Amino acid sequence: MAAFPLPPGSTIGVLGGGQLGRMLAEAASRLGFDVVVLERDADSPAGRVAVRTLVGAYDDPEALKALAEAADVVTYEFENVPAASLDALASLGVEVAPGPKALSAAQDRVDEKTFLGAHGVATVAFAGASTPAEAAAAVAKIGVPCLMKTRREGYDGKGQRWVEHVADAEAVFAALGGRPVIVEAPADFVRELSVIAARGRDGAIVAYPLAENHHEDGILRRTLAPAKASPALSEQAERIAAKVLAGLEYVGVVGIELFELTDGRLLVNEIAPRVHNTGHWTQDGCEVDQFEQHVRAVAGWPLAPARAIAQVEMLNLLGAEVDAWPKFAAEPESRLHLYGKREAKPGRKMGHVNRVKPLR
Ligand code: AMP
Repeated sequence: MAAFPLPPGSTIGVLGGGQLGRMLAEAASRLGFDVVVLERDADSPAGRVAVRTLVGAYDDPEALKALAEAADVVTYEFENVPAASLDALASLGVEVAPGPKALSAAQDRVDEKTFLGAHGVATVAFAGASTPAEAAAAVAKIGVPCLMKTRREGYDGKGQRWVEHVADAEAVFAALGGRPVIVEAPADFVRELSVIAARGRDGAIVAYPLAENHHEDGILRRTLAPAKASPALSEQAERIAAKVLAGLEYVGVVGIELFELTDGRLLVNEIAPRVHNTGHWTQDGCEVDQFEQHVRAVAGWPLAPARAIAQVEMLNLLGAEVDAWPKFAAEPESRLHLYGKREAKPGRKMGHVNRVKPLR
């Protein structure tokens, strides 16, 4: 096992080669670290910034062995890494951060909400189901309308459907693939918010100001941050973040998606055990962004302040929207972040723009 804090010149391993890995690699290189990426595709967005790509699946034993040999610490940009891969890396003598507790809680929606409830963090009412009959019972218990989601591997609104009638429960269960599901009560929210927070190896915690998020078809389109929020709302979010981070013995940056209810209460929708799309505004709106903060945490460095220095509107550039880069490049208030993806498939996250204004 490496000794922390890792000195500059150490190597950080990243499981996953997408845009989050790319921006982690950029931040890591600024602090003098080398990044090695493990990714199936030899030509990935992160791989083109890292010093090296190990080409392989996340559960390829040879690739994991090579990663453990190359890296002083390993992190991930994607929460569907198999838990067995983290165990394999640990048994090869390299630490993975965030650790297995965070990964397993975030991979399964029932485990996630059970963990939150046990740590005094509010969520919508929910029930798990693994068979058509259990799905019907869960819908009857939660009431309609309700949302049925696959327990595992849903993202960007995929793998979920509304159930309008109790009689539809078995059909919706089948339409979701007959896999284990969670049935959730609807959150009557006024806004969707998120808090990006970090915990260091010494247990120190910082939280960025709240972000307000707007989705279309389950995909994030726009983030406004810092969100308009009373001190009480901000403190509520910070308390939630502290409970989640301490409860998971977390090291690194977490993204916590929240529903703001009409009565001012915050419910947690989802925990992402990684840097998060709703934290991209921190690149141009904060002294130190979420990517550097994550690198600092996993390397055992002190965390940096998470203060805002500007107001940001972050726009995701999906698919062919990225072709408008000359327009954004010509806007004095816009900072363009492009991921270097070779092909602009519809809905694919190709880049983002941070439109920066003075802090209000
Ligand atoms: P998720 O995949 O769980 O992040 O859900 C994607 C989106 O669906 C969220 O950003 C919300 O807009 C919506 N959503 C998810 N769960 C609920 C819920 N229990 N009640 C109302 N809307 C929800």
